Amino acid sequence: MLVVAEKEIGGLMTPEAAYDAVEAVFAAMAADRAYNFPVVREAIGHDDALYGFKGGFDGAALTLGLKAGGYWPQNQKHGLINHQSTVFLFDADTGRVAAAVGGNLLTALRTAAASAVSIKYLAPKGAKVLGMIGAGHQSAFQMRAAARVHDFEKVIGWNPHPEMLTRLADTAAELGLPFEAVDLPRLGAEADVIISITSAFSPLLMDGHVQGPTHIAAMGTDTKGKQELDPALVARAGLFTDEVAQSVAIGEFQHAIAAGLIAEEAITQIGAVVNGSHPGRGDAELTIFDGTGVGLQDLAVARAVVKLAQEKGLAQKVEI
Ligand code: NAD
Repeated sequence: MLVVAEKEIGGLMTPEAAYDAVEAVFAAMAADRAYNFPVVREAIGHDDALYGFKGGFDGAALTLGLKAGGYWPQNQKHGLINHQSTVFLFDADTGRVAAAVGGNLLTALRTAAASAVSIKYLAPKGAKVLGMIGAGHQSAFQMRAAARVHDFEKVIGWNPHPEMLTRLADTAAELGLPFEAVDLPRLGAEADVIISITSAFSPLLMDGHVQGPTHIAAMGTDTKGKQELDPALVARAGLFTDEVAQSVAIGEFQHAIAAGLIAEEAITQIGAVVNGSHPGRGDAELTIFDGTGVGLQDLAVARAVVKLAQEKGLAQKVEI
């Protein structure tokens, strides 16, 4: 098998390669050529850790495997970040393990690529202002990936912990874009594209905040109970997601579904827009992409990085 170490990923994987891998696997999912396995996520009763697996099979690219890992809140004492994961790929023809790949940076890149896919296909015409809700680790990745697929003129941002806003200001500066910290009503009124990437458990962006043609990539909600958007806002939007089953169970749309405000049948997989089998925005004033994070995204970027590592001689061969 091949091993690609976490420390090599930064030098190998590019946002462009992550984007291409994620866009392709979303398209394969919508064409029923790739599917995700049910997610396992368990509180293991040790060190407050959450551990689980996300896996799947992409029959178009013949990518089979899983990402194993989770969240260890006490990791600072070990000098490690709290999110830890590794991707394992298997040979689809033989079942032999093919690769083990560090999954930490890949998770950040594949999550950023997902919102970027939605922005590329669903941003309103002439969108100029990017609104960021959230200023944690992931926010910088999301902003960079968004700027790659669309020419924004300005970034505005809000975060529940204002001391973290420097991350958004610094990332915007790196992209050569002006940045302004604003309140949520201004963010909703002025942004043409909004990315939410927080750990919120109650709605932040309300229906009354959002005005004019807007696309929202709701990326923070990936667990039952988390929530960033007012269900009334969701109820008046064109609805898109990575995978419908995850969206209604653990994604942002779980709440509007539970309240009976939207029907599962009204949610479209973004891959259908990529494939051209769904028109996308149409004449909708508001679109929302519920990015829940699927295992196939992890496998797609891991496969891409293994290829790059092989080309550069940075994949270690191990007998198993
Ligand atoms: P982080 O810990 O670095 O940042 C957390 C962010 O959420 C900050 O903006 C913080 O101010 C805000 N926040 C913290 N507690 C909050 C609360 N109680 N209410 C509202 N906001 C709160 O995390 P990160 O790595 O930037 O990830 C942000 C979120 O995105 C996490 O919830 C994570 O689980 C989620 N995530 C989703 C995917 C996906 O595929 N959808 C992938 C990676 C991360």
